[in-house]
Amino acid sequence: MTDQFDVVIIGAGPAGYHAAIRAAQLGLNTACIDKWVNKQGKPAYGGTCLNVGCIPSKTLLDASHKFAEANHGFADIGINIKGIEMDVPKMMARKDEVVANLTKGVAGLLKANGVAVFDGAAKLNAGRNIEITLHDGSVKSITGEHVVIATGSVPVSIPPCQLAEDIIVDSSGALDFQTVPERLGVVGAGVIGLELGSVWQRLGSEVVVLEALEEFLPMADKQVAKEAAKQFKKQGLDIRLGARLTGSELKGQKVEVSYSDAEGDKTEIFDRLIVAIGRRPYTENLLAADCGVDLDERGFIYVNDLCVTNAPGVYAIGDVVRGPMLAHKGMEEGVMVVERIAGKKPLVNYDCVPAVIYTHPEIAWVGKTEQELKAAGDVFNIGLFPMVASGRAMAANDTVGFIKLIADAETDRILGIHMVGAHVSELISEAVIAMEFASSAEDLALTMFAHPTLSEALHEAALAVSGHAIHIATRKRKKK
Ligand code: FAD
Ligand code: NAD
Repeated sequence: MTDQFDVVIIGAGPAGYHAAIRAAQLGLNTACIDKWVNKQGKPAYGGTCLNVGCIPSKTLLDASHKFAEANHGFADIGINIKGIEMDVPKMMARKDEVVANLTKGVAGLLKANGVAVFDGAAKLNAGRNIEITLHDGSVKSITGEHVVIATGSVPVSIPPCQLAEDIIVDSSGALDFQTVPERLGVVGAGVIGLELGSVWQRLGSEVVVLEALEEFLPMADKQVAKEAAKQFKKQGLDIRLGARLTGSELKGQKVEVSYSDAEGDKTEIFDRLIVAIGRRPYTENLLAADCGVDLDERGFIYVNDLCVTNAPGVYAIGDVVRGPMLAHKGMEEGVMVVERIAGKKPLVNYDCVPAVIYTHPEIAWVGKTEQELKAAGDVFNIGLFPMVASGRAMAANDTVGFIKLIADAETDRILGIHMVGAHVSELISEAVIAMEFASSAEDLALTMFAHPTLSEALHEAALAVSGHAIHIATRKRKKK
């Protein structure tokens, strides 16, 4: 017999489990299928984000940042500690514990909300019938009045750099090193390359990042990217741009990497190599030929702005569809889709998706960059406030970076906010709220911010748009 559900969600990553919980809250009879098994061979929910993505990487980033601060920053503020050591296996065990707690938490939430969970691999057939190969090998068939695909993404691999044992690894492997590599190579100066490169650099690795593009962080505001590059260089991250990989060869317990750049052919020997050159949508063995769901030319499931696929009653969300591969983007899509199934009319505002890189300094932005606005011929004003002028940043001995606010020259509406500095992963939400509510720079300028906080830098950046920042000396102030 085939079980019938109002909604069947394939994938329990952040996109899928948010959809499942919200669907159940709305009173829909909901099933969620996921095939993930953890290192212990047990089902684990939360997808890439909880198991091998956001959460484990941030656990290691936080631990390694504390270690780096204790080593290099504490003496400045009068704390003298001798003989600081990093116990890498303990850090890893704690990371595994955080992951286990959170993945179990998702299992608990799904259960508490009455979601029927199936542990196994799903295949979508015609008529929204789903065939599940459960982990014990048995096959179960269920049908959904609506089906939501949330099967996520996997790392891209390239022929010159095939994964090998624990020496050439992808991001998942890089979250599991039990010792600090003496020399670490990273292919790709994107988000993962910078975050995981930072983790191991802080713990003592000599890190070389090989990036194919000539430009560093092209998706970020140029001024932010320039400041970040300066800080990473100071920390010792050796980022080599315009480096085109040509091959890699294992040499005992090391790897020799060949690449070419403007100066010619080069080789480097590393103890470990992390390949972090992007992720691709994951749809392997998912779609029966007659299920009606189409892929686009890049392999993403084709959807419209409402995450509706070409097959009636079938939706797709998260990394498996167009748009930034970010957990929060997938979560919002999941909630939107099931609320629309339940008759509500929410939309995802794709103009207000925050991006964060959790290095130190952190990098965060929402909206358009200065270069994008210039290219579009927009006329705008910029307010910039350096963290060095923030009392709270000074108190915390962490004054790197700035906040930059871009507002339309005519309407003053905020078009983009770009941040580089400590804790900007938290501050960016204030910027998102402002943009979501279509604020002008003046709206923010007229808002009261608690003192002393890092958030005041956002206030000052808004004031700076019209030349009225209090804590920066502006020679030529506009009269207003
Ligand atoms: P996934 O999380 O990939 O989940 C998909 C789920 O579907 C998986 O559990 C999988 O087992 C299941 N599945 C796939 N096919 C089937 C099938 N046929 N049957 C049953 N189940 C199936 N994003 C951020 O926003 N912030 C961060 O800080 C961040 N850090 C990251 C760090 C790293 C190292 C990595 C790799 C990624 C990071 N990301 C981060 C990206 C983030 O993890 C993804 O954007 C997010 O997990 C996508 O969610 P999803 O639900 O679409 O897919
Ligand atoms: P990415 O797209 O951020 O960066 C990949 C980098 O590799 C790019 O700079 C690209 O030019 C470079 N590259 C591609 N091919 C190359 C080659 N052959 N040789 C050298 N360099 C090459 O991808 P990622 O860092 O792998 O991350 C994947 C996704 O995961 C991202 O889209 C991101 O959204 C998500 N993620 C997000 C966070 C976060 O939100 N903090 C953290 C980690 C991952």
